[in-house]
Amino acid sequence: MDHAATTSTDVEVVKVMEPYFTLKYGNPNSIHSFGQEARKAVEEAREKIAHLIGANPSEIVFTAGGTEADNYAIKGIAWANQKKGNHIITSKIEHHAVLHSCQFLEKQGFRITYLPVDKYGLIDSEDVKKAITGKTILVTIMHANNEIGTIEPIKEISKVVKKAGVYFHTDSVQTTGHIPIDVNDLGVDMLSMSGHKFYGPNGVGALYLRKGTRIVNLIGGGAQEKNRRAGTENVAGIAGLGKAAELAEKRLVQGKEVEVIKLRDKLIKGITEKIDHTYLNGHPTKRLPGNANFCFEFIEGESMLLSLDMEGVAASSGSACTSGSLTASHVLLAIGLPPEIAHGSLRLTLGKDNTEEEIDYAIDILPGIIEKLRALSPFQGNWEGLN
Ligand SMILES: *Cc1c(COP(=O)(O)O)cnc(C)c1O
Repeated sequence: MDHAATTSTDVEVVKVMEPYFTLKYGNPNSIHSFGQEARKAVEEAREKIAHLIGANPSEIVFTAGGTEADNYAIKGIAWANQKKGNHIITSKIEHHAVLHSCQFLEKQGFRITYLPVDKYGLIDSEDVKKAITGKTILVTIMHANNEIGTIEPIKEISKVVKKAGVYFHTDSVQTTGHIPIDVNDLGVDMLSMSGHKFYGPNGVGALYLRKGTRIVNLIGGGAQEKNRRAGTENVAGIAGLGKAAELAEKRLVQGKEVEVIKLRDKLIKGITEKIDHTYLNGHPTKRLPGNANFCFEFIEGESMLLSLDMEGVAASSGSACTSGSLTASHVLLAIGLPPEIAHGSLRLTLGKDNTEEEIDYAIDILPGIIEKLRALSPFQGNWEGLN
């Protein structure tokens, strides 16, 4: 139940990848038939990914994952358009791949606005409108949040951003392959995705780059990816990403995400009903199909993870214990949770292969775990003592 962290690589994806390690190992930039076979795999994958998000294949640039796609979009736009302006707008709840790229640019003299969110984690398009100045060159707002699962009103925000003639990027790593996406309907100029978040391989992703976007390259070298991203292509990984996109599109056409939503809602209902002093984080309906995120008062997140792990359940928490002191998730703090509550967060993220029995099992064991930890907690009502 930790699919937001990573997913298994679909066996069908692995099958498609295998020949490119051994039999069809040509360099796609070689003129001979071995190279051309690899080239064909890369271009077919590009078409499948473009089709999944309603883009043109020439607008897809392969990267080494979601983090690189975010870095490329943000730094690339900033450096290419700095004569026009130095202002970038983002939100307080972005993934660190976005936040740290923005903080890096801040040190170089760019000005960054970190927009607040409401208690559900929603960004208000009015706030975006108010933040735009004559110096704004980029707005980057995630499609859905990886911790609390809230899906942002990207279409609404893009109307405001496009009216101002500003570039718009969205980190779609949590949504690509999980909910229907059309880049033209969303109105974005750039969109990041990552293979390992939708049953593809790790270390491969893509940036959708709308035709005509002024961007500076992050990685220099050869002329690969139409001079946009140098380095010999990760052929097997790209072929796998393409297959993952094809399979995801098939599932979306069949409406399979509804099954995950049903399991998610059963999990949310079961846990919030069976355990008191429990809250659901994120929006009740505008949320990712597989995401459930709770806060349990009087408990520290990592102790829950260890107890769940002993029962065979993989989960995640917004609380991290680093060098003996607790740091609460920036997302949970941004939605207004006090640190002592944010420390007791638990994220359960479901995937296509989770079963109803597994949901029942989680609902069954969690109350006992929470009860035990609360009884053991020396910090009940005295969270200050933790730091
Ligand atoms: C996982 C994730 C990333 C990073 O993607 P990688 O492929 O692991 O580098 C970026 N943004 C969000 C929202 C994510 O969930």
